[in-house]
Amino acid sequence: MPVESPTITLVPEQPPESKPLKVGFVSLGCPKNLVDSEVMMGMLQSGGAHITSRADDADVIVVNTCSFIDTAKQESVNTILEMAQHKISGKAQKLVVAGCLVERYRDEIQKNIPEVDAVVGTGELENILAAAGIALPGSLAENNSPFVILNSAASSVSQSLKSGVRSRPEGELRESQGRFSRAQWDGAVATLPNYLYNETTPRLLATPKASAYIKIAEGCDHPCGFCIIPQLRGKFRSRHFESVVAEAQRLAANGVREITLIGQDTTCYGEDLGLKDGLALLLERLAHIDDLRWVRFLYAYPNKITGKLLDTMAAHEKICSYIDVPLQHASSSVLKRMKRGAGAGIFLKAIEKMRRTVPGLTLRTSFIVGFPGETEQDFDELCEFVKAAQFDWLGVFSYSDEEGSQAFHLDDKVSEPEIERRRKKLMQVQRQISKKKKARLVGHQFDVLALGPSEETELLWEGRTPMHAPEIDGKLFINDFGEHEELKPGEFYRCEITEAHDYDLVVRII
Ligand code: SF4
Repeated sequence: MPVESPTITLVPEQPPESKPLKVGFVSLGCPKNLVDSEVMMGMLQSGGAHITSRADDADVIVVNTCSFIDTAKQESVNTILEMAQHKISGKAQKLVVAGCLVERYRDEIQKNIPEVDAVVGTGELENILAAAGIALPGSLAENNSPFVILNSAASSVSQSLKSGVRSRPEGELRESQGRFSRAQWDGAVATLPNYLYNETTPRLLATPKASAYIKIAEGCDHPCGFCIIPQLRGKFRSRHFESVVAEAQRLAANGVREITLIGQDTTCYGEDLGLKDGLALLLERLAHIDDLRWVRFLYAYPNKITGKLLDTMAAHEKICSYIDVPLQHASSSVLKRMKRGAGAGIFLKAIEKMRRTVPGLTLRTSFIVGFPGETEQDFDELCEFVKAAQFDWLGVFSYSDEEGSQAFHLDDKVSEPEIERRRKKLMQVQRQISKKKKARLVGHQFDVLALGPSEETELLWEGRTPMHAPEIDGKLFINDFGEHEELKPGEFYRCEITEAHDYDLVVRII
């Protein structure tokens, strides 16, 4: 998965009911965490709670945290402290902390922040009800309900069978190598999360109208040396194929037109279920859902992008010609130390095949600069690779030294100022590439999903083309509505690109 900067999603207000418990929810981090928030909000709403977007009006405040790099941890702690003020002032009665920070510092959180009443890890989302003080509804406490408390071994097995969870040989191997061990982490518990929601689990969407994420897998078996996500999220496991299809059908029937499939690595989807080319099969099936317009997937592992996957993308108009493949570096020696392998030459060949097979492909990647031992020569190789590959979108992240990662123990750490210099330089290289690529789009026509008035000015609307994944890519502004007096969020409009900036585009409706 890519290294992502954390974002805060405040959830839209729901219609009030007769004095229900009001729960305010702050969701930090990546879309995978947002789906966890949506599941917990769905459970709370099913339990009778009213979800509010106003923290100052909430009886219970939940902070769903991110903790995979230091800045994300800091943001999580700051947000918890900020939300604790609502409890200190007397309005909120409970403060609950959920998510990755709990997996990392379960015991420490309540010890160090006494205002926190309860913690809910990523593997025990159903516990949000008890944490908020809501009794498990009788109808939901039956065996078949998604509200299975996963703290006992028996219930974990039951949930695993329902979700079709089996392990992959890679997962077994990595486990035997200690990949998932939390032994070095004070305050974490030994049991790894093994939870997956399914199509019957209540979910309250927090994404803009007509758009939704579906988490198709959880956890990761890869050995990347800089990453602690496997320790936080557990071994790779896929949701059952028919469960994903049923969820997509229901979302489409409820007005969703754009679905983004997510997981730490969606290209491994189905391997634990015995499926070959599981992601391609899933995309093909979703492409036959009439009411869906766009389906895309985030994030691909480089050597898991198969010919079948590319052919499937090329064969179906509804599958966006968009691949986000976080490559992390291009120097083979750095990639080897990262425990990822390959290098610039192999990547360039793979990219050429992707572009040849999927016409009009939009390609996104992300890199980490300043990994321990990265020399000036390694960095130059990365810059040259970026010039050769001509990515449409690119993220550059500074190496973050995470306790518990394998890279934490490596020598030859690069200094922070040097890491920052390299990050800025690589972004400058990409800026020039992006500027030229975006300029070439002027005059071309695309379908645009209208999202709503821009946060920057109400005179403009924002939207997305198939080239833009939600939240992460550059912005697209609609400044000419054509013959429409007003636009509707969630509707598609045919547009022509009239202006291009370094990363952003301006369009008019035709
Ligand atoms: S271990 Fe590698 S592939 Fe897995 S989530 Fe971390 S960076 Fe992504």
